[in-house]
Amino acid sequence: MKRTSRLRYSRLAAADRRHIWHPFTQMRDWEREPFLVIERARGNHLYDVNGKRYLDGVSSLWVTVHGHRHPRIDAAVRNQLARVAHTTFLGLTHPPAIELARRLMRIAPRGLSRVFYSDNGSTAVEVALKMAFQHWRQRGEKHRTRFLSFRNSYHGDTIGSVSVGGIGLFHGVFRPLLFDALFAESPYCYRCPAKKSYPACGIECLGSAESLMRKRRREIAAVVVEPLVQAAAGMLVYPSEFLRGLRDLCTKHGILLIADEVATGFGRTGAMFACEKAGVSPDLMALAKGITGGYLPLAATLATEEVYESFKGRHEEFRTFFHGHTYTANPLACASAVASLDVFEEEKTIERLQPKIARLRKRLARLREIAIVGDIRQEGMMVGIELVKNRRTKTPHPPKERIGHRVILDARKRGVILRPLGNVIVLMPPLSITPREIDRLVDVTIESIAAVSRRNISSSAISNAN
Ligand SMILES: *Cc1c(COP(=O)(O)O)cnc(C)c1O
Repeated sequence: MKRTSRLRYSRLAAADRRHIWHPFTQMRDWEREPFLVIERARGNHLYDVNGKRYLDGVSSLWVTVHGHRHPRIDAAVRNQLARVAHTTFLGLTHPPAIELARRLMRIAPRGLSRVFYSDNGSTAVEVALKMAFQHWRQRGEKHRTRFLSFRNSYHGDTIGSVSVGGIGLFHGVFRPLLFDALFAESPYCYRCPAKKSYPACGIECLGSAESLMRKRRREIAAVVVEPLVQAAAGMLVYPSEFLRGLRDLCTKHGILLIADEVATGFGRTGAMFACEKAGVSPDLMALAKGITGGYLPLAATLATEEVYESFKGRHEEFRTFFHGHTYTANPLACASAVASLDVFEEEKTIERLQPKIARLRKRLARLREIAIVGDIRQEGMMVGIELVKNRRTKTPHPPKERIGHRVILDARKRGVILRPLGNVIVLMPPLSITPREIDRLVDVTIESIAAVSRRNISSSAISNAN
């Protein structure tokens, strides 16, 4: 490392510590620990200010799709920049947003026909909730005021999205501020609420949602669900039969289904959308994260014509959807989203992904040799490795041990960027990851978990000897 770059790092790090408050971060730890300053990227790698290279094992928090600095997307953003960076979507429109809407409709699950833009996943869900609520008021079913969600679900950090969030650690403190949603059992197979296993269980866990829906049939406006993977809770993968069952229940009781595809959308599960993979069409669908290929903040809420139609009326009836964000449908973001969809077509991304998914699965199997690996979950390119203190009892590591954090610090030394969710190590590489990079990603993950596990054993041996 050159002296000048070391100096530059220290200056940047000091200024960061002095002025910045990072998301989902205990700042007391941040202020004490070294951290990386990422300066540039190329393909599936990130480079820090010292020039060290890292494999981007989590797609820069689940957003990068075709790799960083993809020539096609770079050019699209540059071309748009030469025209206009931003123009409002309130009362005006522009070509990239129109083109993107057309393109989204070509790939969206059947029945979805309208696009409402916003700029992040939380608002995409929030918009869906408000649309569902107002839809029923305008359809003369004012009694439909409640939402049904699932334990362990994550739909974003704004108050409406937090209200339907089921992760106690993130959402509990805000409970007094939230609207009162209904929560059904989570389809968390590894820690099955019924202590059964699939498929013998006959998806008994769906029974909890079913009975709530039956009892509160007239009150529920919509069910909101993360299709196939409860991602932020630790990549909890569940059978598509559960999602199909849920769709049938919604149809039966006349309840809207909101699919939050913010994490699963744009190829992560091996299909363009998880709903498509499960053969399910929702009434509303939230998209964000991968929509721009991971370039710029953009989100979309897709709706059926039926929902859309209920908002139409004479001006003075005020059936208008009074919602919008200043940067709604930002043209640069829309241009990058269109280019990302072009890349999907030109590079046959989904087709070429299938052998990578198989390779990842095969490679991950070796993790079972490590005693602290409790569960390995994979849905396409989404992977969660749940670490436990005791495999038989599934006892979790106490938060104080920061086991996940220690694993990712070790992986960082070996040149791989990961980000844990508590005791779950997440792998979510860009879809553009190469077979060799898959091997490296998994090998480093195995080495890091094994190293931390060995240190844990020797430190507990020392404390026992004392
Ligand atoms: C990340 C995420 C969100 C929130 O998206 P933001 O852009 O961070 O607001 C919502 N739902 C799911 C399923 C997510 O993974």
